[in-house]
Amino acid sequence: MADVFAQIYGQTRVRDFLRASVASGRVTHAYLFTGPAGSNKTQAAYALAAALLCDQGGCGACPTCERVRARRHPDVRYFAPEGAGGYLVDQIREIVADTALAPIQSDRKVYIIDRVDLLGTSAANAFLKTLEEPPDDVVIILMGRTRESVLPTIVSRCSVVPFRHIPATEAAAILAQRTGASPELAKIAIEACAGSITRGIEFLKSNERLAFRRDVIEMLARLDTADTWDVIGMASQLVLAAKAPLDSVREANEAKLAQDADFLAKSAIRQIEARNKRELTARSKESFSQIAAITASFLRDVLAVCAETPDLVINYDVQDTIEAVAARTCEPNVARALKAVQAFNEAIAFNVSPETCLDAMLFEIGEALYGTHSPC
Ligand SMILES: [Zn+2]
Repeated sequence: MADVFAQIYGQTRVRDFLRASVASGRVTHAYLFTGPAGSNKTQAAYALAAALLCDQGGCGACPTCERVRARRHPDVRYFAPEGAGGYLVDQIREIVADTALAPIQSDRKVYIIDRVDLLGTSAANAFLKTLEEPPDDVVIILMGRTRESVLPTIVSRCSVVPFRHIPATEAAAILAQRTGASPELAKIAIEACAGSITRGIEFLKSNERLAFRRDVIEMLARLDTADTWDVIGMASQLVLAAKAPLDSVREANEAKLAQDADFLAKSAIRQIEARNKRELTARSKESFSQIAAITASFLRDVLAVCAETPDLVINYDVQDTIEAVAARTCEPNVARALKAVQAFNEAIAFNVSPETCLDAMLFEIGEALYGTHSPC
């Protein structure tokens, strides 16, 4: 059985460094993982967390490793910015207060704090003391896009672990090798998951996700004949489909909590409830990001056909649809449609309600591709 570090795909140096740090007991109290989206930072953070909590240094097979891998270990906490512009001072104060509480199941706790490039000066100041000297049983893993985008006062208190950008072709090759999918299908999955190998694996395993992709593409193809009400209907249908997988997560979480409730202290129950809620928010964001990724991939294919380079098309299974859309529009219009996708992505990152921006994105794409204001 491979250890937990084997899952840090495409980042050999990070994998070897973390494995050696744990094996030799040279783990520090605060890490900063830097790298672009899709570079596998989250997977690596959970692998390190499992290794720190597992009695055998991250065997990959015991219940502790399994619970961390499934993101259900109560002593591994994940945080993402809750404010519209990033982390709120109150949110950081809550995290700081939480670090002082005892672990629930292990003898250590791991805090994974995402997007610390969205940690402003006031919120950072509330965090510095904890980051410098966390309680003995706490390890903090921060994640950010680049070292330069994180405040120097944060960087200087962490051991920085740089992740490299994994080119899409390489990511697809790793994905094909891991899952046995064809290289063509692996490319589709990598694009639909914005470059993430870890999410690509989940995507290929899930019939629900594959069907979701087909729904998104089918709606995009229908935009040329859709009126306002059609577009509103499409958006709400996509919202439902995006949120459908969350129901099973919510039910599983509630069932698990009901089962454990008798054995847990009230404070532990509150912590688990808060964690479950954060998990749902994070997953919902992921679903909406996936709509953006699938849409962008489809539009790039339309652009490739418009530019007479159809061999660059990734979504080969819907080639006919792509060609039909390309025949009705032109390169500058597709470029404008892609800008609408980018705006949608940014809005979700800043916690604007995805439901409202989805309408807007679909309208703008339809208008850009086929609108009367933008003749080719
Ligand atoms: Zn283990």
